[in-house]
Amino acid sequence: MPSLTLQGVVLRYANYRERDRMLTLLTPDHGRVDVLSRGCRRPNSQLMVASELFVHGEYVAFQSHDRLTLTSCTPQDTFYPLRLDAYRLTCASYLVSLVQAAAQPEQPAEGMYALLLQGLYRLSYCLSDPPLAAVNAFLLLYAAEAGYRPRLSHCIHCGKPLPAGRGARLDTEAGGLCCDACRGEGQYALTSAQVERMRGVLEGGFDAAGCEADTALFEAMRCYVENRLECRIKCSQFLP
Ligand SMILES: [Zn+2]
Repeated sequence: MPSLTLQGVVLRYANYRERDRMLTLLTPDHGRVDVLSRGCRRPNSQLMVASELFVHGEYVAFQSHDRLTLTSCTPQDTFYPLRLDAYRLTCASYLVSLVQAAAQPEQPAEGMYALLLQGLYRLSYCLSDPPLAAVNAFLLLYAAEAGYRPRLSHCIHCGKPLPAGRGARLDTEAGGLCCDACRGEGQYALTSAQVERMRGVLEGGFDAAGCEADTALFEAMRCYVENRLECRIKCSQFLP
């Protein structure tokens, strides 16, 4: 019976029959993978911990017909602190929902996998930083990873360079910042500090996320990303 070892993070689960769960994992090599976790809702099941949301671990499954069934798992991180804070939990749920919307079966997702682990790590363990700062950084890096990095250096409409130290407008439809002369509908006005933070995050990752719960930047980036996904992510209604 062919056995498969997968590094993965649980993006979602659906309870199935009386004691089973169908897990959806994000894996770096195979993208989105569905695995049946049989008996995991039985008390004392060895698969119980591995079958919870956000768990990162090494999953071993066997393949029969078209289905993968979990045989064992070595959890590396359960991101347990997320369970102690409802707001951080909502933020983490938003991250995994976004990743689930982008990931495809059998499409390698190394970058997205690494990004998700960093985001979950920030939300779980960097307790002095506001969760929304990590979510905002995640949205930007996610857009870049999914292939629609916003253009921040030049106006998306007229092409003029956008000078440092000046505010700009995020045109969520057109895919980047624009200058005052190109103002129009559906744009979000951003301050120079917000623009600098966006540039910083795209260059330097989460470390440049700052420590502000910037709700205006969140609204702009949520609109930008969810427009491109062409769907509303349900749990984002509870944010910011
Ligand atoms: Zn312009």
